[in-house]
Amino acid sequence: MNISVDKNYTEFIKKLHKKFPHEKEGINKFYGSCKKVFNCLDSMPLLSIEDPSYLFKVFLKAPKSCLGLARWLPINAGDVARKFIKDPELLKFIDIECFCWSVMPAIKTPMINAGMVFTDRHVGGINYPKGGVGQIAEKLVKGLETLGSNIRYRANVKEILIKNNNAIGVKLKNGEELFAKTIISNSTRWDTFGLNNNEGLVKREFVHKKEKKWSKTYKASPSFVSIHLGVGKNIINPDFNCHHIIVDKWEELENEKGVIFISIPTLLDKNLAPPDKHIIHAFTPSSINEWENLSKREYLSKKEDYFEFLINKISTILPNIQDYIEHKEIGTPKTHKRFLNRFEGSYGPIPNKKLLGLLPMPFNTTNINNLYCVGDSCFPGQGLNAVAFSGYACAHKVGSKLKINSAHLPE
Ligand SMILES: Cc1cc2nc3c(=O)[nH]c(=O)nc-3n(C[C@H](O)[C@H](O)[C@H](O)COP(=O)(O)OP(=O)(O)OC[C@H]3O[C@@H](n4cnc5c(N)ncnc54)[C@H](O)[C@@H]3O)c2cc1C
Repeated sequence: MNISVDKNYTEFIKKLHKKFPHEKEGINKFYGSCKKVFNCLDSMPLLSIEDPSYLFKVFLKAPKSCLGLARWLPINAGDVARKFIKDPELLKFIDIECFCWSVMPAIKTPMINAGMVFTDRHVGGINYPKGGVGQIAEKLVKGLETLGSNIRYRANVKEILIKNNNAIGVKLKNGEELFAKTIISNSTRWDTFGLNNNEGLVKREFVHKKEKKWSKTYKASPSFVSIHLGVGKNIINPDFNCHHIIVDKWEELENEKGVIFISIPTLLDKNLAPPDKHIIHAFTPSSINEWENLSKREYLSKKEDYFEFLINKISTILPNIQDYIEHKEIGTPKTHKRFLNRFEGSYGPIPNKKLLGLLPMPFNTTNINNLYCVGDSCFPGQGLNAVAFSGYACAHKVGSKLKINSAHLPE
């Protein structure tokens, strides 16, 4: 099966109808349900659901949308798909639709997140910052500095200082102590609270049992082996699609090397590479366990094996790619762990078993006063959607505590 996901919703649905004519009605109902979820989300300003005054105001503003959303909160996309669709191959296709951003099959992916992703990509489309993703951080820094903030680089936090169950500041690796009214940790929950025998920023005696419970309900998703290639331009046709996903065996979807993701960002922004060159980024899920306890020689040789594996897969869509490679870089789960400072180099938390949609996830508040967490382990669903929403919600929640939020909801 080979299906492209068009920006145009009607074209995409038409393609699915053609491929699965016996499931026309199911396809319409499943993607139609996603649209309903999206319309509810789209009609209300999304801020912190941990702030009662926001919940009250948003309910007054959009009661129907709130009730509509509440209905979907405990439901996963796979349940909705199975209600309307019977074809096993189509259900597998919906699994990879979810897996490519949630790293979970549909049955474990909250419907609210699926509704957002499967509709927004057709309504707003998928947008990329010109100049690469680093631009997002650079623009944020500019905005923060304009508003009087001071950003400290290479300032790793060693400990979050706590007194009488109040977070009062942080201690940096160099011993310097900084004090504040509010502390927000963007480190993962595993790294913040030292869960799963990990060294944490909060001393063990202050870690609430709720955090330990969370680490039993959610596990770390695998990390990736990721390669970046610089290749000669001629191998890629200018109207080639930017993103490709290859799944050889459906039953391997959740396993090591089960899926291959390939992106060619220079098809959208040629200035990312020197003239006449393209960048190819390809990655495949890989667990940190695969990379521990190896000698340097074994580690380097394993990197080359994974590289060969990925090049073989890329050559199924770009034949003879190996003849065009001018530069290569290979990152493993250990690279992600070290340079991103993330527990096991993980992509983010995933449920240990099927859960009730997005209800069991912790959000930004913690059991320690004035300590908040933000990022992809504080909002259900993985990746940048979860991160962006978590950031919005956290800023709102802290603003509400400091009484600096506007009395009105944003438009
Ligand atoms: C190869 C790969 C591909 C991906 N592809 C996608 C994709 O296509 N779409 C998508 O949506 N998502 C994707 N993701 C996931 C996405 O990158 C993450 O979900 C997102 O970056 C998480 O954001 P965050 O702010 O929660 O955490 P992070 O991005 O991990 O940011 C946390 C920051 O805190 C810093 N930090 C940690 N500990 C300390 C400390 N003690 N002191 C000071 N600073 C500290 C870290 O250095 C880091 O800068 C991908 C991830 C990987 C690895």
